[in-house]
Amino acid sequence: MADIEVHAASQKSDQYGIPQRCYWHNGHSNDAAHGQHEGHSTADIIVIGGGFAGLATACRIAELRPEKKILLLEAKVVGYGASGRNGGLVSPLAAPIWLAGALGNSRQSDALRMLYTKSHEAAQWAKLHAPDAEVEASELQITAQGALTSAGLNEVAEVIGKSGLSYELGKTPNGSCELRLPCHTIHPYQLALGLADYALRLGIQILEYAPVQSIQSSKHGAAVTLSDGSIMSSERVVVSTNAYSNSISAGRQPPAKVVRNFMLATAPLSEAQKASLLGNDKFIVELNSKYIFYRIHADRLIFGGIDKIGTSTSENDFEIPDAVSLALRRALSMRVKCERDIAIDYSWGGRFHLTSTDLPVIKECTDNPSVVYNIGYGGTGVALTLALAPVAAALTLKQKLPDEDAAFIYQVMRETRLPIISGIKLAGLVSRRLLRQAFSIRA
Ligand SMILES: Cc1cc2nc3c(=O)[nH]c(=O)nc-3n(C[C@H](O)[C@H](O)[C@H](O)COP(=O)(O)OP(=O)(O)OC[C@H]3O[C@@H](n4cnc5c(N)ncnc54)[C@H](O)[C@@H]3O)c2cc1C
Repeated sequence: MADIEVHAASQKSDQYGIPQRCYWHNGHSNDAAHGQHEGHSTADIIVIGGGFAGLATACRIAELRPEKKILLLEAKVVGYGASGRNGGLVSPLAAPIWLAGALGNSRQSDALRMLYTKSHEAAQWAKLHAPDAEVEASELQITAQGALTSAGLNEVAEVIGKSGLSYELGKTPNGSCELRLPCHTIHPYQLALGLADYALRLGIQILEYAPVQSIQSSKHGAAVTLSDGSIMSSERVVVSTNAYSNSISAGRQPPAKVVRNFMLATAPLSEAQKASLLGNDKFIVELNSKYIFYRIHADRLIFGGIDKIGTSTSENDFEIPDAVSLALRRALSMRVKCERDIAIDYSWGGRFHLTSTDLPVIKECTDNPSVVYNIGYGGTGVALTLALAPVAAALTLKQKLPDEDAAFIYQVMRETRLPIISGIKLAGLVSRRLLRQAFSIRA
């Protein structure tokens, strides 16, 4: 694995002199808060990766089986990856592929509704166990940017309605369609730290600065080799390293691409500037090619978007390329009314995983059944990692899935394929709606 600096190469700046560091990490040191290597050579279960997937899964395992000795290994510090640097939306529509599929597939429609409930329940679970994580009820507002995306959003609203979810449909000041649903927001890094504290209270041991190099089969399960050569063994290993998974050699990995996403945080905005935003108390997601999303936190605008497929050659894992920084700043200045440039205090990038269906992969490794993959979390990974942790925990323990809804969601996840047919159907419906609109305007 490339040697990556922790908590953002705070010395590095972009072409505008803005430090490339993550706003959420502000005020936190790079020092390992958890554990030392020595004396941890065996465990019942080893979880690799201290993001939401690894932390929540380890906690759910300990909740189910408190007697198990669980060890969590993190290459840097907990919350170092995407989990500590994201936008903080716990999305109620965490499986966008089922929005297209739900049109002709009642199982995907049911799974959409069940996952919506699971995502809200997971937010409550996080709030209970990580009280400083600022888990708050909010509203997700998806806004269209023109006639085509407005028509698409209308169809999506119908699908959501048919799935039994409540939503509101409205119009933005420029006449485009907007869809509103209840959601939660979090402070990402505080949630990672809060879950780590909860894990410790459950008796889980956490080792930071413990990068895993390889996993091999052994007589009793798996042998995990760290980059310093030490070997730890356990019956079961859960790999929750998401977009960093190719840093570990462990047989054939499920296919997934690495995607980088980027964010800015402004200096605190004036009341007038906040009022000029489309929704200053909501989480806004725009339907456009830049995937713009934003929210206010502590009077600052937290503004993100632009996906880039593939890793960078830079050693700086928080890097934001100059062209991306410029494009985000331009997009930001078009959304906040201001007589002069808005000061940007932070800019950073991060990486997530992209599978062909945008659904994660939670399954035993074909080469070594002692290893469970829990990876493939994409742009709605906050909700998915938290909501599906009980599934990953049950699979690791070889237990029945926690409840019927979880089992159903997991089954539908496994049978979901690329939605070519449903995508075509949705496109058909969108174009019919556009024709209807055009006709009614003429009439
Ligand atoms: C800029 C940005 C904004 C986003 N915004 C949102 C949002 O608003 N809502 C949403 O739902 N999703 C969002 N996402 C996606 C979401 O953050 C991720 O899907 C989710 O956090 C993935 O969690 P994870 O635990 O699987 O991975 P990660 O958080 O990446 O955790 C993986 C961990 O594994 C560790 N690791 C790596 N290699 C090793 C190794 N060899 N040994 C030991 N440990 C290792 C890493 O250091 C890391 O801590 C965003 C992502 C980015 C990048």
